[in-house]
This record gives sequence, C-alpha cells and structure tokens, in this order.
Amino acid sequence: MTDFSGKSVLVLGGSRGIGAAIVERFAADGADVTFSYAGSKDAAEQLAARTKTKAIRADSADRDAVIALVKASGPLDVLVVNAGVAEFGDPRTQNPDIIDRVFDINVRAPFHAAVEAAKTMPQGGRIIVIGSVNGDRMPFAGGASYAVSKSALQGMARGLARDFGDTGITVNIVQPGPIDTDMNPAEGPMKDLMHSFMALKRHGRAEEVAGMVAYLAGPEGSFITGAMHTIDGGFGA
Ligand code: NDP
Repeated sequence: MTDFSGKSVLVLGGSRGIGAAIVERFAADGADVTFSYAGSKDAAEQLAARTKTKAIRADSADRDAVIALVKASGPLDVLVVNAGVAEFGDPRTQNPDIIDRVFDINVRAPFHAAVEAAKTMPQGGRIIVIGSVNGDRMPFAGGASYAVSKSALQGMARGLARDFGDTGITVNIVQPGPIDTDMNPAEGPMKDLMHSFMALKRHGRAEEVAGMVAYLAGPEGSFITGAMHTIDGGFGA
C-alpha cells in the first residue's frame, strides 16, 4: 500500500475493469478520487458509493467534455487516463467513423486531458495513461486501429515528459497484456490464442495493473518519466 492521503486523483474511465481497480486502489490508499464514465451509470454509482469516491459522466469521445472535467477537477496530483475502446475487424470493411472514434477516445482524449491537467498540477504531479502491449506488438490481424492508438501514446509520453519536465510532472504509459475484464474475458473466445503468445499462461488481474499505477504515482516513481511500463505475462517477450 502507498499513502495517498491528501492527494487529488482523477481517473478517466473508472466505472469497470482496470479503471475500477485503479479507483479502488487509490481510494483504499486514502486519496480523494473522482472518476468519469460514459455508459455504465449503475456500475459507476455503485463503485462510487462503495469506495466513497465521486463519479461524473463525461464521454471521452467528446474533447470539450474531457477538458472541462479535468479543469473542474484540478489542481490534480494524479491524472490516470484509462478509458479506451477496441474495434477489431478488417480495416478494408470497417466504418471509418468507428475507427476515428477509437482515435478520439484512445489518443485525443489522453493528449488533451494531460495538457489540461499539467496547467495546474503541482510540482511532482503524475500523469499515467493506460496503453497496451499492442502498442509494441500486434500478433494477429484485425487490430490495426487499436495498435495505432496505443503506439501513439508512446510518442505522446516521450514528448510531454519533456514539455512538463521543468515542473517535475512525470508522464508514463502502463502497457497491459491480456487482463480479465469485460473487454477481454479470461474465458473468452480469444483465450487460447492469447495464451499461446504468453510466458505466463493466464490473463492478468485488474488489481495487478492498479498496483503498477500506484507505484508510478507514489514516491518511489518520482524519477520515472517518458517511459512505457509493460505488464503482460510475457506477451511481448
Ligand atoms: P473495459 O471495456 O472492461 O472497461 C472500459 C472502461 O473505460 C469502462 O469503465 C468504460 O466506462 C470506460 N470508457 C470506455 N469508453 C469511454 C468513453 N468514451 N468515455 C468515458 N469512459 C469510457 O476495458 P478494460 O478495463 O479492459 O480496459 C481499460 C484500458 O486498458 C483500456 O484503455 C484498454 O485499451 C486497456 N487495455 C486492456 C487490456 C485487456 O486485456 N483488458 C489489455 C491492454 C490494454 P463506461 O462503461 O461507463 O462507458
């Protein structure tokens, strides 16, 4: 556990899966946590009540809504951008609007949220974005738009780390491999294919990812910036 008491944390996309585990972890460690959600109102309200955190509806596909939420929540000690979507399929037949929505949520929202947060973040603030091991490795067909979106975060972290370095704000990407959530259930149809790529033949748990986020956000993460942190059971090995 890390002591985050007195710290203000905003998690974009916290109602389910990895985001919910991150909300739970920061709340258990004493932080003052706000999180956004888009579609899962009931799950968000239940999580907020259980963890004594604050849930606010803000669609990450809406740039202005994201910027407004970050601004209203500031100054933040920690910003975590977890909200992300995947649209797998043959890009030759996929609707370009669907692809652009992936880029809006997975790339544009983290960029604008990070910039807005950095405007008021105190010295030593932390910006952490959930990328994916698919930013490094996409070993099957149908995931090009998702891979593009997660690779783009790598360039974002490298650049913004330098832009914000004078303030001591760090910018890092956490890159999970298969994690058991609604997006990628441990017993789903992709299970055997995914495990065939991995050194550890299991899906990870959302709490394992939340632990890495807490490490980067805590005092031991103070010298880590502009970097990618893969937690993937050896998927990319
Ligand atoms: P889930 O689909 O289980 O949960 C996604 C979360 O993001 C939900 O809380 C959802 O909220 C929120 N979200 C999605 N779209 C929006 C939006 N437009 N606006 C606001 N919130 C939104 O996904 P995971 O927990 O599995 O994934 C979380 C992150 O981890 C994503 O960035 C994903 O790409 C990444 N990741 C996941 C992996 C996995 O195997 N699970 C592997 C590698 C990376 P709501 O339901 O309220 O809309």
